[in-house]
Amino acid sequence: MLELKGNVNSDKLFKLLLKNIRKQGHEVNKVYSLKEIASLIPYKTSDIKNYASYNYALTSMFSNQKDRDYFIFSNKSLGDIFTELANDTKRNNRAWNTHYGHEKVKINPKYLVNRKLLLPYSSVESIRILPMSETDSEFTGHSIEDVQDWFMHKLPNRDFNFTRGLDVQNGTLFLFQYKAHVIASAILDQKVVFHKKLDDVYRGAYRFIPTTIAVFNPINSSEMKGIWNDFAGLSRVQHNLDVDKYILLGELLLKKKLKFALNEESEEFYQDAVDRTNLDTSLEVNDVPLDPLGISNGLSQRWIRSNVTSKKAIVLADYKCEYDESHRSFTSRVTGKNYVEAHHLIPLEYQGQFKRSLDVEANIISLCPLCHKAVHHASAEVLEPIIKELYTKRRDRLQKCEIAIDIKKILSYY
Ligand SMILES: [Zn+2]
Ligand SMILES: [Zn+2]
Repeated sequence: MLELKGNVNSDKLFKLLLKNIRKQGHEVNKVYSLKEIASLIPYKTSDIKNYASYNYALTSMFSNQKDRDYFIFSNKSLGDIFTELANDTKRNNRAWNTHYGHEKVKINPKYLVNRKLLLPYSSVESIRILPMSETDSEFTGHSIEDVQDWFMHKLPNRDFNFTRGLDVQNGTLFLFQYKAHVIASAILDQKVVFHKKLDDVYRGAYRFIPTTIAVFNPINSSEMKGIWNDFAGLSRVQHNLDVDKYILLGELLLKKKLKFALNEESEEFYQDAVDRTNLDTSLEVNDVPLDPLGISNGLSQRWIRSNVTSKKAIVLADYKCEYDESHRSFTSRVTGKNYVEAHHLIPLEYQGQFKRSLDVEANIISLCPLCHKAVHHASAEVLEPIIKELYTKRRDRLQKCEIAIDIKKILSYY
């Protein structure tokens, strides 16, 4: 959490606001009206001596005075309007209410969440550099911009083939190196080894989580050295980098205007990616607690679903609807199996309320498309028996992943 420096009334009010919001269980990116913000920090609870000072403190809290950046307004000019108001001795102290009370605002997420959550990737297991060969037929003759374009538009829909694979664990952050620069990044979901070489060249492929693929202004060797002092230079050597320096890397990536390939994670894209994921490893699922993986561009934060994890849950369910095994949909043209979809029993949007990752097999249910639509759209009398049944089936497994929740709470999420 960011420390607040200022200690005048407006800063104290903002601290009180954060405290009250945390008590309620906050959601990052929740939109409030200015009146709603004020109602969370009423005058009588504020310790401020008189009502006029309280109103002035609110005006100043909403402003950009003294570089305050507590809020992000839907109407971008409001920060300046409040700054002018705060600096104007003849100001209308109640304008926040009378003129702007219905304006919409978000709390700057940097004050709400752990700082690490606002780095591009919230949990990084290890970091590797992957040198991309200009002699690889996929990239020959291409500029850095061309290759970055490939990362943005092609890689989210396909695998990254290799001739010589690294020995890496899932969850590793890959930094892609091309023409002596680091130009892209992504988190490894799974490494696949082919039984027979592809095109006579490729021995296997990396499968990256599509929503973690990002490009940024190219990083050169001396910038890498600024982070890892012992960095030997961008060569063909496949470096293993000290993960403890990740915070510095994360900050550099943000400064380099990191852009994720997929801005809107559409449900259809995701289900399609899950359907297309073929699992290479023999399936063994251990229910263990994991750190949640989020991505961020420094302002807004989003939780990541891994196609591989969802597909594992589906394979474990043997492509059946876990609410009622007799439900058949149709044969998928991709898998040749009964088409089902992956659903997070505790919806991922509530990840902020849990310490441990909700993107684990124990929380993912295989559902026929009709039951899946029902859990998202059906009325309470249809919905509740489905959720109760699924919850009963999963409660123990969720507990193994250190996710404790009761049925009332789950139902409140729907
Ligand atoms: Zn769903
Ligand atoms: Zn069903």
